[in-house]
Amino acid sequence: MSVIAFIGLGGNLGDVRLRLEAAIGVLAVTPGIRVTARSRFYRTPPWGNVDQPDFVNAAIAVETSLGAHALLDALLSTERAFGRVRDGERWGPRTLDLDLLAYGTAIIDDDRLAVPHPRIAERAFVLLPLADIAPDAVLPGQGRVADLLAAVDAAECFPLA
Ligand code: ATP
Ligand code: CA
Ligand code: CA
Repeated sequence: MSVIAFIGLGGNLGDVRLRLEAAIGVLAVTPGIRVTARSRFYRTPPWGNVDQPDFVNAAIAVETSLGAHALLDALLSTERAFGRVRDGERWGPRTLDLDLLAYGTAIIDDDRLAVPHPRIAERAFVLLPLADIAPDAVLPGQGRVADLLAAVDAAECFPLA
């Protein structure tokens, strides 16, 4: 059985766009994951801790035979493969961040995984790329992507050429 999942990608250290392209390539050849759609890349202001470089963000849709936690593990190991170091600072600079935004219609909230990602509705940098690939997707417990996007301020987020 396969499930449609959405993954948010971001980073703000080094050549992020190249790294996001490469990370999508790694996910695309990961057993049990098929990449079915990819958003544009966006330049976005930092969130949470504003004293750091701008981010580049994107989103992909995947069709996966992996369970939600196995998919999360694949994302975390891909982050590590691209040099992500967790130094304890929340929302600090990073080479690569891969968030599981939604996993089919599942609602999960345990000590490793919260799905749909609980902060999507506050984040233009997530909703803008997600609306490129799935404007009509309904995030369980949150709403339709295009409606959520209409309710946030995306004025400082720009698609990259
Ligand atoms: P945010 O979650 O607000 O975007 P972040 O991406 O900076 O913050 P991380 O340090 O990358 O947070 O992740 C910390 C932990 O969050 C991960 O080790 C993972 O176990 C957990 N986590 C819970 N839900 C998710 C999810 N939907 N996607 C990715 N990680 C998640
Ligand atoms: Ca994140
Ligand atoms: Ca993360």
